[in-house]
Amino acid sequence: MSMRFRIGQGTDIHRLVEGRKLILAGVEIPWEKGLLGHSDADVVCHAVSNALLGAIGEGDIGRHFPDSDQRYKGVSSIELLRVVMGLVKEKGFCVGNADLTVLAERPKLGPYREQMRTNLAEVLEVSPDAVNIKATTGEKMGFVGREEGMMAEAVVLLESTK
Ligand code: MG
Repeated sequence: MSMRFRIGQGTDIHRLVEGRKLILAGVEIPWEKGLLGHSDADVVCHAVSNALLGAIGEGDIGRHFPDSDQRYKGVSSIELLRVVMGLVKEKGFCVGNADLTVLAERPKLGPYREQMRTNLAEVLEVSPDAVNIKATTGEKMGFVGREEGMMAEAVVLLESTK
């Protein structure tokens, strides 16, 4: 790839259920429900991973870390993001910035936002001000509003290191 800049977008959705931990961007958030998935179902890390893979033309995380692979059962998605970041660097790119939106009815994510940002910035190898996390509710509408699930969207800009 000879382009100086690459852009990528990622979206992910997970179902909210009782008896699971709620982990967003590697932060364990005390809550009555958690996200269901083969891994820790960290919807934020999955969206960012998909955005990075999109930017380097490498498909999606389902292709790189299939649900059918027992190695990824219960795995921490911040570690999967680290693997994806390794691919980004192998391809000769670094992250410029990342912008995210988390769609969740409850709980309020404000108290956890800085830690989420710090975690992502560390893995993406950027300063925290290059990672922006926005949150919105579903205004009680749809699967987000009914608290059946959460969704995250991410956009990343990559810059060539060559
Ligand atoms: Mg996912």
